[in-house]
Amino acid sequence: MIRIEHQLPGDMPGHHYQFYSYHFGAPDAGGPHVYLQAGLHADELPGVLLLHRLRQRLAALEEAGRVRGRVTLVPMANPVGMAQHWQGQHHGRFAAGSGENFNRHYPDLSAHAAQLLQREEMTVKQALLTALAALPGDTLLQRLRHSLFTLALPADYVLDVHCDSEAVLHLYANHRHADAVAGLAGWLQAEASLLCDEAGGMSFDDAIVQNWRRLEAGLGLSLAIPFAATVELRGVADVSDTLAAGDEAGLLGWLTGIGVISGAAGNAPAPPRAATPLAAVECVTAPQGGVLVYQADYGQWLPAGSQLGYVLDPHSGAHTPLLNRHAGYYFARVAGRLVNAGTEVAYLAGEAALRSGMLLSA
Ligand SMILES: [Zn+2]
Repeated sequence: MIRIEHQLPGDMPGHHYQFYSYHFGAPDAGGPHVYLQAGLHADELPGVLLLHRLRQRLAALEEAGRVRGRVTLVPMANPVGMAQHWQGQHHGRFAAGSGENFNRHYPDLSAHAAQLLQREEMTVKQALLTALAALPGDTLLQRLRHSLFTLALPADYVLDVHCDSEAVLHLYANHRHADAVAGLAGWLQAEASLLCDEAGGMSFDDAIVQNWRRLEAGLGLSLAIPFAATVELRGVADVSDTLAAGDEAGLLGWLTGIGVISGAAGNAPAPPRAATPLAAVECVTAPQGGVLVYQADYGQWLPAGSQLGYVLDPHSGAHTPLLNRHAGYYFARVAGRLVNAGTEVAYLAGEAALRSGMLLSA
């Protein structure tokens, strides 16, 4: 195992951040290269715990000569977000200075990379990395994004491990990779897999795929696009050794199955549910402001018109029911119980497309 320290000079003199990547397998190893990161939204800790455990397991497997491919691991990817405490509360999703989501605005390198590929003899990955290195890194946020993207672009498989507010384990990926998603969903027993052609917003995993898709369109080629997915490792409070041990076993099975670790993986378990379109996710909003009281549990299929809970107006005493309009698998909901009218509070994976354009929340 090689540990590399990545330096991120801050936006003010005297400010400095760093994060660490861990590298397993020989650089010239023949097997596939996997990149895994956690904590991009800094306080999403189930993945940080999982990748910490995986680091220890991979170190032992490497000692035993069982790492056939390469693994790059970044267990705690966002030191900038980790430092954002105000008045006793932590805020890890948006950068304090700009308000930008840490998991949006990854760069479109395709135009520059296409020029490079037309001019010079190089691989697509080399062209993307060269185009990335040419971008300005004037701000801390740019430097963080570029550092992480530089680590991920060489990989054949990219997993960005997040968690939701309160949720079952679920995945986001591209339609293009439906078979690979089913394999990962089986090993992790993901209860929903949400697929799209383009999610919008250039989140980390989607930006990997979109760069390759745009290169395909620009060059008129068909390319073997790396698999990239976001893993939502349940809810923000689901930080437990028991859950992490099960997820670790799942990831090791997956890594063995794709040939990164030697040994017999056995057959991938069947995923609990077939993948559905991300565009078919219903975002149920609070019909009025007040106190949100949930009644139905998430982690179940609900027919249209089910009462997920209600919003209480403590002044009038009115209970306004929270209803889903479409049938779907209820996979996530917000943890906060104080809501404004119009706030998205619950998410159901349906089967028929309901939405278009930007498919991710802010
Ligand atoms: Zn996240």
